[in-house]
Amino acid sequence: MSQLVIENVSKGFGTLKVLRDCSLSIAKGSVVTLLGPSGCGKTTLLRSIAGFLIPDAGRILVKGEDISHLPPNRRDVGYVFQNYALFPHLTIRENIGYGLKIRRKPKAFIRQKVEEALGLIAMTPFGDRYPKQLSGGQQQRVAIARSLVLEPEVLLLDEPFNALDAQLRLSMQIELRKLIDRVGITSIFVTHDQQEAMTLSDRIAIMRGGRIEQLGTPLEIYDHPQTPFVADFIGRAN
Ligand code: ADP
Repeated sequence: MSQLVIENVSKGFGTLKVLRDCSLSIAKGSVVTLLGPSGCGKTTLLRSIAGFLIPDAGRILVKGEDISHLPPNRRDVGYVFQNYALFPHLTIRENIGYGLKIRRKPKAFIRQKVEEALGLIAMTPFGDRYPKQLSGGQQQRVAIARSLVLEPEVLLLDEPFNALDAQLRLSMQIELRKLIDRVGITSIFVTHDQQEAMTLSDRIAIMRGGRIEQLGTPLEIYDHPQTPFVADFIGRAN
């Protein structure tokens, strides 16, 4: 059974149709990247999965359960934003533990989970620092750990490396992929950068004008683009 199923999802804002009949099934532990030009609907699809937006039509299922009408906090879905959005007045440990604290988990449990998460991102020595004392890459790692500590079924990442320079982006991509494999978490990653999509994904969904134009492995998309748009988008240097 697929861990995440997106079934004929459409979404508009007023008269603007932003998502048109999008469908996608993702197996457990697999990474799908939504790739496409700015404005094609990637973030809108991600926000619909997270519950920040409610689709006009279609369904979203996690482990077979329809979550389409649940609020974000009742969906078993983690969301990593473009800008790290860490709390500046909390230490790294407190930032990572925050979600568990507001869910009223026992203190010893929180401490253990936070230490595990810090270890996972190789940031244990930095646990008592504040976000502004970390580099951009380190802050983004903390943001990812903060989502993972809640052990969601699905992890959504919206252009998480946008603020980083090219070299750091590449090392973070490789690191993220390793982390996802270690945790075995089903993930959707949004980017407009085709190299990033190629590095990270099991499959890529190329989006255009609110539709998924082609879905395939990086190699399938690269070797056999099914439309001139996909060929042009993949062929274009970033
Ligand atoms: P992408 O992530 O691919 O850049 P988005 O999903 O952010 O694209 O946006 C797709 C389209 O929907 C854009 O034209 C954008 O202006 C529009 N849009 C996104 N969110 C809203 C909103 N809350 N209200 C009105 N229009 C929106």
